[in-house]
Amino acid sequence: MQVRLFKPSVGEAEIAAIREVFDRAWLGLGPTVGRFESEWSRYIGAEVSVGVNSGTAALHLALAAFNFPVGAKVLVPAITFVSTATAALYNRLEPVFVDVDPDTLGLDLDDLEKKITPECVAVMPVHFGGHPVPMDRLMAIARRHGLKVVEDCAHCAGGSYQGRKLGMWGDIGCFSFEEKKGMTTGDGGMICSNNPALVTPLRAHRWVGIDRDTWRRSSQYTAAEDDDALHWHYEVAVLGYKYNMNDLMAAIGLVQLAKLDRMNQRRAAIIARYLDGISGIQYLRPLLPYDLSGSAYWLFGVRCDARDQLILHLKRKGIATGVHYLPLPLHPLFNKHKEPVPTALRIWKQIVTLPLFADLTDEEVDYVIAGLRSFAT
Ligand SMILES: *Cc1c(COP(=O)(O)O)cnc(C)c1O
Repeated sequence: MQVRLFKPSVGEAEIAAIREVFDRAWLGLGPTVGRFESEWSRYIGAEVSVGVNSGTAALHLALAAFNFPVGAKVLVPAITFVSTATAALYNRLEPVFVDVDPDTLGLDLDDLEKKITPECVAVMPVHFGGHPVPMDRLMAIARRHGLKVVEDCAHCAGGSYQGRKLGMWGDIGCFSFEEKKGMTTGDGGMICSNNPALVTPLRAHRWVGIDRDTWRRSSQYTAAEDDDALHWHYEVAVLGYKYNMNDLMAAIGLVQLAKLDRMNQRRAAIIARYLDGISGIQYLRPLLPYDLSGSAYWLFGVRCDARDQLILHLKRKGIATGVHYLPLPLHPLFNKHKEPVPTALRIWKQIVTLPLFADLTDEEVDYVIAGLRSFAT
């Protein structure tokens, strides 16, 4: 048996949605993006959502929305995907690495308070693996120090904390619909907020700075009753990027969003099966303190002192594994950013990610569990 690490759950419904976009033959930024943004806003409880072509673009533009001065500092966790920190660099801001909580691998809020200086302007909590950062406590700290909060929700689409959706606690929430994530549009991302003044301008930033929708203008090109010869006109007032979502992505996204809760429930059921299957194995501990009520976990993994031997053992059995993540301060790109993060540097050597996706079968999960159980013997 071969078991993949991640696999998008896509099929006939997504193909039908793509076919509709083909029939309309408007594939780029168009009305379907607008529909997906509205549906997403309704689902997540946001006033405004802006669709972009990746989670990385979402994080870049989210920080850009605040117009922070060059060289200001942004607090990010030491263990996350590289985009959380490169979002700061793209904006000519400096990432400051905060250590992770030893249990949840989210921001260690005590270390966060220690690392805040007057130059810090924002903090980017990552709900690692789908486990929520305690946002009530984080928001209190951020408000006390005048920090803006951009939630990196790449791992937790659909998850909640204390009854409020993740992404709706901070000033801006950013999501990734990359193919491995909780729901996918191939590649894609979403920026959402309850502060329209803050994020509505990002519609131009994601569209090379253009302040009008091309698909809306194009309908006027041949409208006989339209006596405006300037239907082609737009103006560029801001430095934008080619970061727009397109109608093909949005069509897939609408179908995926409709099944997101079901996919999250299935992932939770798989995690429950894993936890049951590995309980009592001395040399393994679950990666996270999984709380399966109302959550949206994207990663299942374990902690093991003999992590690399375990990876090899599973590889020989056809079971894919990963490590999320090498702590960011260990990457050469961040050589200049050497804040102490002892917990991250200790724990990352023990963590291994195991297969988790909505279409994983019970049989496959049991095969992985058997592989884990046979490691010591
Ligand atoms: C995947 C991911 C991103 C980037 O999303 P893309 O859509 O791949 O650009 C950002 N942050 C975290 C924590 C991620 O896991």
